[in-house]
Amino acid sequence: MPPLKHISVSSLRTFQRCAAQWEFSYCDGWKKPANLNFAIGLAVDAGVNLALREKRDTGKLPEREKIIAETESWWQSNEVELWPDESRKDAVAMSITLAAIMYDELLPHIKPAPGRQSIQEKFLVELIPGVPSILAFMDVIAEDGIHDIKTSATRYNEKKVAHDLQRQVYGLIYMLETDTKEVQFTFDVGVKLKKPVLQSISMPVTEADAEYVLGWIEKTFGQIASSMKSGHFPPNRESFLCSRRNCQYWRECEKRHGGVVHEGSEKR
Ligand code: SF4
Repeated sequence: MPPLKHISVSSLRTFQRCAAQWEFSYCDGWKKPANLNFAIGLAVDAGVNLALREKRDTGKLPEREKIIAETESWWQSNEVELWPDESRKDAVAMSITLAAIMYDELLPHIKPAPGRQSIQEKFLVELIPGVPSILAFMDVIAEDGIHDIKTSATRYNEKKVAHDLQRQVYGLIYMLETDTKEVQFTFDVGVKLKKPVLQSISMPVTEADAEYVLGWIEKTFGQIASSMKSGHFPPNRESFLCSRRNCQYWRECEKRHGGVVHEGSEKR
């Protein structure tokens, strides 16, 4: 396999969770349809990104119906892998409800930073000599810091936010780019409860976070380089995210590594 030119936080996280899954995705390059939970998040992103781009360019949000239509049409143009007990209709309805909540409660308050791309802005940054550059697309760079907009089956808590590697890496990249020592990072989460809600939870990224995450990147990349050299990418079936429902590579995993991957019932 040729050396990696760049690497994303999600790729580094995938490797830490399960090296076998990383091999299927990043070495073998096998692309798979999204599972239900991932699909809901992507559909909401489609509507929200459209709204934010328009707000950045014109200063105004587009009509609510346009965002709902964009969210709904994501489902028509993308393949999704469903289990027999999962309802596409319910998932489409959930994504529309979450996009509507974001439109009503979040988007009026987000102010994309002027004078830059701000929405889905791309960064390719060499953080550590000898380690591939980090590739990042930030959801929103706003006047009050970085926002990451996502969906989740459960509410975020302070510990999850404090330890979140995406928060730390994106904050570090931003601090280097702007020559600052701290940046506010906010997760805006559409929580898929029976009655879906928006949760916004903010925390500054500090120099201590930056120092920690640089060490983490270096060590994780060292492990990836050693796996690439040896060709050993061990599966991690003890991971709480290892199940047929959560890992799109379970068939390949059973074929390559043997055993049986449990169906699982985790919600994300
Ligand atoms: S099924 Fe489990 S062990 Fe196999 S690649 Fe996926 S997460 Fe890893």
